[in-house]
Amino acid sequence: MPDFSFTEEQELFRKTVREFCEKEIEPRAREIDEKAEIPDVVIKGMAKLGLMGIMVSSEYGGSEADAVTAAIAAEEIARADISCATAVYYLVQAGWSYIFDKYGKPEWKEEILPKLTKGEAWVGIATTEPGGGSDLAGMKTTMKKVDGKWILNGEKAYISGVREALKYGGVHMTLVKTAPELGHRGMTFVALPIKGTKGIETSLFEDMGRMGISTGAFKMDNVEVDEKWIVGELNRGFYYAMEGFNVARVFVAAACVGAAEKALEIGMEYIKQRTAFGVPIAKYEGIQFNLADQATKLEAAKLLVYRAAWAVDQFYKGKMKVSDVNKYVAMAKLVAPLWAFDLIKDVMIWHGAYGYTKECPLEMGLRGVMSYCIGAEGAQNIMRIIIGRELLGREYMPYK
Ligand SMILES: Cc1cc2nc3c(=O)[nH]c(=O)nc-3n(C[C@H](O)[C@H](O)[C@H](O)COP(=O)(O)OP(=O)(O)OC[C@H]3O[C@@H](n4cnc5c(N)ncnc54)[C@H](O)[C@@H]3O)c2cc1C
Repeated sequence: MPDFSFTEEQELFRKTVREFCEKEIEPRAREIDEKAEIPDVVIKGMAKLGLMGIMVSSEYGGSEADAVTAAIAAEEIARADISCATAVYYLVQAGWSYIFDKYGKPEWKEEILPKLTKGEAWVGIATTEPGGGSDLAGMKTTMKKVDGKWILNGEKAYISGVREALKYGGVHMTLVKTAPELGHRGMTFVALPIKGTKGIETSLFEDMGRMGISTGAFKMDNVEVDEKWIVGELNRGFYYAMEGFNVARVFVAAACVGAAEKALEIGMEYIKQRTAFGVPIAKYEGIQFNLADQATKLEAAKLLVYRAAWAVDQFYKGKMKVSDVNKYVAMAKLVAPLWAFDLIKDVMIWHGAYGYTKECPLEMGLRGVMSYCIGAEGAQNIMRIIIGRELLGREYMPYK
């Protein structure tokens, strides 16, 4: 049988992160949602604990954490801020700063990453465009050489952290086409600073949830690209993006599990003290069986999440094939948001009318987790396509 335990270090890490989250994040969760901002004290506190750019190399102030450890933090942060906003702030940066660190140019990393690990810069991801997010090969943004300079034109939309990048500075790992005729083999990643760059115009969307972190768009009109912004090799961007998605999706799934765990805890407390027809409603099978089903699914999702995190770590140790990692990660990202949403919805129903009010924190969880059911870091049907592809083989994909 496999060993399902965390290491002593990981248990201690969880305890430390939980203590911080319970003290600094949980009491501010409603404020984060209402003011649509994560207070600096939270961001600075997370940085002090080594959570910002948690997988980044120590030379830039990172913790060089493995994926399992980084997933623990995502789970704990979402338990404390059930809206998932703070977890999103953490996890987007965790996944994409890792890729930036791995493939970015040293002179650009030296400028950005030490600030990121101090909580003073943003590192995000920008692949989606107004015309679509799932079909990356269909994207329109181009980077062309004009008079010896790289010039960007296009638009990215539904991008997390646009307001944060304008506030703190930093970069969005922006996927662009450098050889459009080659489809996904002709894409390049640019670590693009949207703050202060000539030719970039930003805008913000009004989301329904995870209000503490922004979603926005940016248009690039003849933006001149500094060579140092180009990440890794030209035309390898798609592959770096897929690698980053495998890392970030694990943390997405972990955050959904964390939010669902918190909801279940709140729900169990409530059904023990709420009475109807003279007894606590926890005594009714109508409630208890639903609790049993939801707790079991949550445990299953959690196992998938940590197996996926473990698979990522095994991959980087050279002990697992990328196709297996793809499959395990997609399975975790497929079910964790959907089951978390379903669980939170049921726990809201246990609360009766109170569950529908803003006095009860559960509605923040429902709105937050929905972003991941819709598809932030990849739509659910895309997870199904990945799982099908890895089970049946690429020859059974409906398109190449
Ligand atoms: C809150 C939020 C934050 C986000 N942050 C970021 C970010 O930071 N960076 C970024 O780049 N993107 C971000 N996104 C965008 C996200 O990556 C996209 O929403 C996602 O990739 C899906 O793209 P789309 O919304 O254009 O939907 P589409 O690709 O247009 O898909 C629409 C629907 O069709 C389904 N579909 C598409 N293709 C197929 C197929 N072949 N078979 C079956 N069904 C299919 C999808 O599952 C979906 O339900 C964010 C989205 C949200 C909601």
